[in-house]
Amino acid sequence: MSKHIFITGGVVSSLGKGLTTASLGMLLERRGLSVRLQKLDPYLNIDPGTMSPYQHGEVYVLDDGTETDLDLGHYERFTDAPLSRNCSWTSGRIYRNVLRRERRGKYLGKTVQIVHHITDEIKRAIRSLSGPEVDIVLTEVGGTVGDIEGLPFFEAIRQFALEVGRSNCLFIHLTLLPYLKTSFELKTKPTQHSVAQLRQIGISPDILVCRTEQSMSESEKEKISLFCNVPRQNVIEEKDAGTSVYEIPLYLYEQGLDRRVVEHFKFTEKNIRVEPDFADWMGTLNSLRNPEKEVGIALIGKYAKHKDAYKSVYEALSHAGIVNRAAVRVLGISSDSFQPGQLEGIDGIIIPGGFGERGIEGKIAAITAARLKKIPFLGICLGMQCAVVEFARNVLGWRDANSTEFDLKTTHPVISLLKTQENVSDKGGTMRLGAFPTRLLPGSCISACYKTETISERHRHRYEFNNAFRESLAAVGLRIGGISPDGALVEAIEIPDHPWFVGVQYHPEFLSQPNRPHPLFRDFIAAAIARKACTVPDR
Ligand code: GLN
Repeated sequence: MSKHIFITGGVVSSLGKGLTTASLGMLLERRGLSVRLQKLDPYLNIDPGTMSPYQHGEVYVLDDGTETDLDLGHYERFTDAPLSRNCSWTSGRIYRNVLRRERRGKYLGKTVQIVHHITDEIKRAIRSLSGPEVDIVLTEVGGTVGDIEGLPFFEAIRQFALEVGRSNCLFIHLTLLPYLKTSFELKTKPTQHSVAQLRQIGISPDILVCRTEQSMSESEKEKISLFCNVPRQNVIEEKDAGTSVYEIPLYLYEQGLDRRVVEHFKFTEKNIRVEPDFADWMGTLNSLRNPEKEVGIALIGKYAKHKDAYKSVYEALSHAGIVNRAAVRVLGISSDSFQPGQLEGIDGIIIPGGFGERGIEGKIAAITAARLKKIPFLGICLGMQCAVVEFARNVLGWRDANSTEFDLKTTHPVISLLKTQENVSDKGGTMRLGAFPTRLLPGSCISACYKTETISERHRHRYEFNNAFRESLAAVGLRIGGISPDGALVEAIEIPDHPWFVGVQYHPEFLSQPNRPHPLFRDFIAAAIARKACTVPDR
């Protein structure tokens, strides 16, 4: 039977529960345990797919097409645990399942209630990940203890522990120790209150992970232990990550977090490693800490000042920096106000995915600069679509070329709605979503990059390269680098007469890991480094 760890948060939101969960998952995996990770989000949306990036940050897409919270991206970057729709639950999805069952008459006339119908459904969601091949399921509960909408989740995990036995469960509570500069001290009172709140609903945390900007003293740890009723060695410090989030697992290991977990579940050294195997991770961290050069990349998007909206893109760029031994300095530029002068000192341009017309002309202007000035360019999804529009307008001279997402009346709809989307009216979960294969064309830049013929990448879009224009665009130098196996959909484009210009209809950023960088990002950064080396030899 799988063991269960529940990670809750107190005091404030945005404490980094996702990163802590992912880091612990990684430490346990590297001790030889098989882990699964999941996130329970108390909001009412069925999934984050319809939410604004301002509200929610990036929508992270899984192979099976589930649109999820960006924390699942951390899970995939830190661990090898497979993720599926069972790894991402919201109140909306839980309630929908219960209400559908109610409509089908499955409750046989009973009154349908939060306890136990909703809590049963939450427990079912948790159980969906356990199994004989899984040692530990880590379940992160979104939000903060005390939130009204989170209550059924806390009640469900309390009941769950009662049912499977307290020794098979572990409650980790992540909390904040604010530092008061005036009195030079870390305050423990908010932590005491949030633990008291947890205990009021019947959950006594086993481990407290304390987020802090200053190191904790022994006496502060003892005080928290005493007031919160948690053994002293289970009060774990988690100081703000210095240079990179990839340092966090190591930090938590030094603080003994994984050891405490292993002791709690009484795993013996017979079935697990005495120490986590960090060899390759240390190599990755070493390269990250000691870059030999720096390269400047412009990321041009609608939410450029809001990094979380492009979380995985930023992470994939940093992974590509690691393998190229370069510090990647990313300059976020708002597409609304883009001016070519902003590209000063920039050696690569990336245009990520997006929706809606705002900022499109800025993106197209940046692509013109990339194309003409031979600046390495990576266009992702909308970024690729804009590259096709740019090429049609400025190379073929079709001034009104556009995507029908932005101009239904254009005489050159080089990007148009996918056939399968024509009668779709619901917005949630209805795009072309998830992993699909792409056949790479021999001799293309992209096939040299992947060094394979067929790839699988994740998608999230409604519009697509319009096949009616394939020939005209190819005739003037836009090469198709990848297509769907049936030949129906263009998945990648490139400009051969350019050092490195690639656009892809899919999202490569979702498949990049710090120690396994994505080949497209790797080669894009390598091209940017090469450009910098030859344009400014003395830098
Ligand atoms: N808005 C475009 C589409 O729906 C691009 C989507 C994206 O960039 N993820 O096709």
